[in-house]
Amino acid sequence: MRVVLLGPPGAGKGTQAQIIARKLSAPAISTGDIFRANVSGQTDLGRQAKVYMDAGDLVPDEITVAMVSDRLAEPDAVDGFLLDGFPRTIAQAEQLQTSLSGLGQALDRVLELVVDEEELVRRLSDRRMLVDGEWVQRGDDEPGTVRHRLEVYREQTSPLSGFYGGIGLLSRIDAIGEIDEVTERAMTALGKGGAAEGASSADPTAG
Ligand code: ADP
Repeated sequence: MRVVLLGPPGAGKGTQAQIIARKLSAPAISTGDIFRANVSGQTDLGRQAKVYMDAGDLVPDEITVAMVSDRLAEPDAVDGFLLDGFPRTIAQAEQLQTSLSGLGQALDRVLELVVDEEELVRRLSDRRMLVDGEWVQRGDDEPGTVRHRLEVYREQTSPLSGFYGGIGLLSRIDAIGEIDEVTERAMTALGKGGAAEGASSADPTAG
């Protein structure tokens, strides 16, 4: 299956992406993770992306789209994938439609994780990731940057629900509750509900 996971920062996309991808036997492709790996590896891409990420802004579409196209062309993504954090703008969504149709492929479903803003702010300010054995706050989870990221989401990414709703691909998932419950709702929306296989585990580093 080819699935997009949509949702604001803190909705649990990263956590659900790992679990759902395992159940679908497809790779979870997270643009945020790819960018962060490039930042730590001090690559050119990482240097370009870091400025935007630190400010809580989106990395420009041309950088992001090229990176995702390369990733989707890798052999493990040919039969299916779960995209986490991409697309994030209407322009990215249109590019994705074009590149998939060029490959004779199409999205099967877009899952939007829905969480109210008060809960998002609470989750993001509590979130820590494990780096070299220490729990640290992600630079862009600092309160001022969190507020800005939520604004960016509202302005640039939330229009994607209308875009995908308009072409009949959108399923909105209530993302408040136990991790397993949210996964079950997502699997039901993918037509694969009721399968309790695959142990799931909470990943506090995932967004
Ligand atoms: P979150 O969903 O919690 O905001 P991500 O890990 O998905 O976290 O993204 C972190 C940052 O990486 C974003 O704030 C943005 O700067 C950059 N980024 C990730 N995906 C995209 C994208 N599709 N387009 C532009 N920038 C992106």
